[in-house]
Amino acid sequence: MKYDISVTLTTTPKQKPQDESKLGFGKIFTDHMFLMDYNKDKGWYNARIVPFGPLPTHPASTVFHYGVEVFEGMKAYRAVDGSIRMFRPMENVKRLNQSAERLCLPAIDEEGCLDILNKIVELEKDWIPHSEGTSLYIRPFMYGNDPFLGVHAAANAVFAVICSPVGAYYAEGLNPVKIAIESEDVRAVRGGTGYAKCGGNYAASLRAGERAEKNGYTQVLWLDGVERKYIEEVGAMNVMFKIAGKIVTPALLGSVLPGITRKSCIELMRSWGYEVEERQISIDELLKAASDGTLEEAWGTGTAAVVSPIGKLFYEEVEYVLSDNKIGALTQRLYDNLTGIQWGKVEDNYGWSYIVCNG
Ligand SMILES: *Cc1c(COP(=O)(O)O)cnc(C)c1O
Repeated sequence: MKYDISVTLTTTPKQKPQDESKLGFGKIFTDHMFLMDYNKDKGWYNARIVPFGPLPTHPASTVFHYGVEVFEGMKAYRAVDGSIRMFRPMENVKRLNQSAERLCLPAIDEEGCLDILNKIVELEKDWIPHSEGTSLYIRPFMYGNDPFLGVHAAANAVFAVICSPVGAYYAEGLNPVKIAIESEDVRAVRGGTGYAKCGGNYAASLRAGERAEKNGYTQVLWLDGVERKYIEEVGAMNVMFKIAGKIVTPALLGSVLPGITRKSCIELMRSWGYEVEERQISIDELLKAASDGTLEEAWGTGTAAVVSPIGKLFYEEVEYVLSDNKIGALTQRLYDNLTGIQWGKVEDNYGWSYIVCNG
């Protein structure tokens, strides 16, 4: 079911960025955004594309007081054949609904949501940068919008989509990152909201992230919230290890975000003949493998970076150097294949590329 979308074009289009090497991440936004309202009696209504601008939101809205918000992160690519593509967008749509369900926000029709993404990307396609590695980052989000302070499931909500041209994540090649293992704060616990892509998880993670950054580390590797013993994920990325030839990645037990890049990497590696274990992996097992040399590669996976090699791990005052602080062969192969499929340089045998329009 498609939503009936009205379009109001801006009368004051902005100048598109001239220097694509300075785009960075999420700093500038396109000319339009998508908005749609929800009411429990009416369902979703008033689907509209309007000029980009502030949201007039009631000060008592539940999003401000109780953090009733979920989001998605995906990209539109300018492929080498000139077409505009997204990568497995239906996976994002489904995950949005799973996240919404956890926070008692309403579901969106899947076909309707994909159509919304299509329409906003097609309208904003001239904002997709042209340089190698650049893309249009798409941020769909939904929030509870009841204008009273009682705590309850959303009777009113808003679904919005904003778009931002973003630079190449690796301007200077795939440099390994330094990761600090966090043993104090936790991001999520089983039964909580860890598997949902919600703003609250990020609010909970900020303090450890700041601490790690102050000590010279890029991101935090989270341990489980109960025993602080099992590996969960890295910042906004899932994490994978190659130990003695086998791939190990934390199982999805409720506190880890089910990444689409994670899923795609697992599918690729299995098709290449690797054994991939989704299971609990303890910090002791990991550090032992790092010390005895069987930890061959470690990397994070996520839409923003695709894959991010981990060169150093820091835990309880000790720094462990992995793969000589260089990108490993399998990490590089994953990066080349995923980005190859995304930009249409490598044949897509999986049906992952979704063509929005011709450029
Ligand atoms: C979005 C996200 C990921 C990565 O998911 P992708 O679908 O691969 O982009 C991993 N962890 C967290 C906490 C996230 O929010």
